[in-house]
Amino acid sequence: MLVAEEFFPYPSFRPGQREVIERIRIESRSHGLVILRAPTGFGKTAIGISTGKMISPAIHSVRTRNEITPVLRDLKKLSERVRGVRFSFIHSAHVMCPLLMGRSIDPEDFWLNCQILRDMGLCTYYTRAQSIDESDVEDILERAENHVDAVRRISRDLGACPFFSLARLARGSEYVVATYPYVFSRDLFSTVFEDEPSSYSAIIDEAHMLTDPSAIFSSEISISRIRISINEVREYLGGDPYLEDLLDRIARITENKARDERLRKIDRSELGLDSEAIDHIIETALEVKRRAMGRILSGGDVGRAASKRISLAKVALSIAMLEDSRFEAFAYIDPQSAWLKISAVDHSVISEALGVYRFSLLMSGTPPSLDYVERILGVKEPSYIDALELGAWSPYKNMAVVLASELTSRYSERADPMYSLYARYIDEIDNHLDGVKLIIYPSYRFMLKVVEKLGGRGYVENRRTTIEDLLGGIEKNSLVHAVAGGKLSEGIEITESGRSLIRCVFIAGVPYPQRDDYMDEIMRTMRRKASEKEVWDYVYNMSASIRAMQAIGRAVRSEDDIALVVLGDRRFMAADLRKYMGLRIGRIVRNIGEFRELIRMFNSI
Ligand code: SF4
Repeated sequence: MLVAEEFFPYPSFRPGQREVIERIRIESRSHGLVILRAPTGFGKTAIGISTGKMISPAIHSVRTRNEITPVLRDLKKLSERVRGVRFSFIHSAHVMCPLLMGRSIDPEDFWLNCQILRDMGLCTYYTRAQSIDESDVEDILERAENHVDAVRRISRDLGACPFFSLARLARGSEYVVATYPYVFSRDLFSTVFEDEPSSYSAIIDEAHMLTDPSAIFSSEISISRIRISINEVREYLGGDPYLEDLLDRIARITENKARDERLRKIDRSELGLDSEAIDHIIETALEVKRRAMGRILSGGDVGRAASKRISLAKVALSIAMLEDSRFEAFAYIDPQSAWLKISAVDHSVISEALGVYRFSLLMSGTPPSLDYVERILGVKEPSYIDALELGAWSPYKNMAVVLASELTSRYSERADPMYSLYARYIDEIDNHLDGVKLIIYPSYRFMLKVVEKLGGRGYVENRRTTIEDLLGGIEKNSLVHAVAGGKLSEGIEITESGRSLIRCVFIAGVPYPQRDDYMDEIMRTMRRKASEKEVWDYVYNMSASIRAMQAIGRAVRSEDDIALVVLGDRRFMAADLRKYMGLRIGRIVRNIGEFRELIRMFNSI
C-alpha cells in the first residue's frame, strides 16, 4: 500500500487527490506551512485527514459548527478502512451544555458560570464526564448521525457533559475537529488539550479567512449591554462610582462616534482604558458574577445558574483584548444599536497563532497568495500547492462567465439610474432563468438600494441572518440577495440529490472591502511589510477577488452542475483583478438586449 492509500478515507481517489497527498508529504518535510489551493468538490476534507494522519496528532479547524459533520463522516470512513483511528470534535461548551436547555448566553459569560459550577462540584454532568469509559463516547461518535446527535446522546445516554467527554476523548485522539476559536486561542486550546500545541499539526479549512484578522480576533458589545453592566455593578456591589463613570463614558463615546455601518476608531486614551482600569473591570466582573451565581445557587437552581447572564463579564473580556497593543477599539451603528467593536489590526496575531503548531496546512478554494502569506502574515518559507496543476477537476469548466460592461458599483456612479440598471439585469435573470439566483453586493447599503428598485423581491440577508434562516425561507426559483464576504456568500450550499440548486451567481459590483478606520489601521500595519502599491493590491484586488470567487464557488458543487456567472461591473476587466481571479470571461455584453439574448441561450442548455 502506498502512503496515500494508507491514510485516505475512501477506497478510490478523485482526480489529483493522490498527487496532492504525495506532494504534501514531500513538502511537509522541509516546510512548516503548506498552502493548498483546491476547488469545490475536490474533497479537501479527505486531504486534510490524510495529512493529519501522516503528521499526527492533528486538529482540523472549521469555521462553523455545521462544518463538523462532513469531517466526522470522512473520519468514520477512514476508521472503517484503518483500524484503531481515534477521533473527536470540539465546539462551544455553551451550545453543548445540557443545563442550558436552549437558553442563550454569550460564550465568555457562560464559561465563567461553568467554571463556578465545576469548582463547587455542582455539575453532575461534569462529574460523570470524568468517570465514564472513553470507549462509550467513541461508540456514540461511530453511531451518531451528526455532531448534534452525538452531543444529545452523550448527555442523554451517558448522563455526561458532552464538552468535557469529547475533550477527554480528544486528548487521546489522533484527529480532532474543532471550530476556529479552539485552534487560534491559546486559552481555549488549553481547556481541551494537556499537551503543548507544538505537538499538533493544524489543518485549517477556509483559510482565505486569514486575510482578515478581525474575522478571528474580535469581539463586539452593544451599547445597551454596557448600560446593563452599570446596573449590575449597582445591583450586586451597591455601586462603584469610578467604574460606573468609566462604563458610562465608554458607552457615550461609542454612541457619539458611531454614525453608520463603517467602523470608526476610538482612541484608547479617550476611553480612559489603561492596564489598571482594565484589571479593575475584570476583577469587578468576576466579583459580580460570583455574587449573582451565589444568589441563584442559594435557591439550589443549578440550571438557572448555568444560564445566568452578566453583561459585565462580556464587556470586561472584550475590553481586555485592548491590553494587546495590536488591538484597537471601533464604533459602528446598525438598525438595532450602536456597537463597540474591539478588533486585531495586525496580521501578526494570525502568524503567532499558527506558529505554535508543529505543521500547518492551509486549505481553501481561494487561499491568499504565497507572497501574501510570507510577507504579510510573516510565515517563513511557506510552500504552495495548486490542486488544479496536479490534475484536479476544475469547476470553472462548468461555468459560463459573462461580463456586463454598462454596470459598475464605482462610488462616483452610485445613484438612482445605476441602481435601476442593476435591478433591470437582475429582473432579466429572475424572469428567464430557473433555479436559485444568488446576487452578491459589495455592501448592505448598495444591496438595499437595488432591492428597493426590485420592489423588495427575493430573500434579503441582514447582519444577523444565519444559513439556517435562509434555508428555512428560500424557494426553488428565488432570488437571494447577499453581501460579499458575509455568511451567505461564503457559507451556503443549496443542493438537492447532490446537485446545486444555484443556477446563477451575479456579482453586482466589485466587492472591494469598505474603506473605514479599521481598513486604514490594517493598511497602516501592512505598510511596515510591503510598499503602498502592494498593500493596496492585497487589500483591494486580492480581497475583492477572494470574495467574488468564494461566492461564485457556491454554484458548482459537482461535475453535473452548470452555472451562469455574471460579473456585473466593468472593472472586472482590469488585469489587476483578473490576475487573482483566474476566471476566463466568455462573453462581454454591452446592454440589456444582449444580456437578455444570452440568458435565453443559456436557459436552453
Ligand atoms: S454540563 Fe456542566 S461542565 Fe458541562 S458545559 Fe454545562 S456547566 Fe459546564
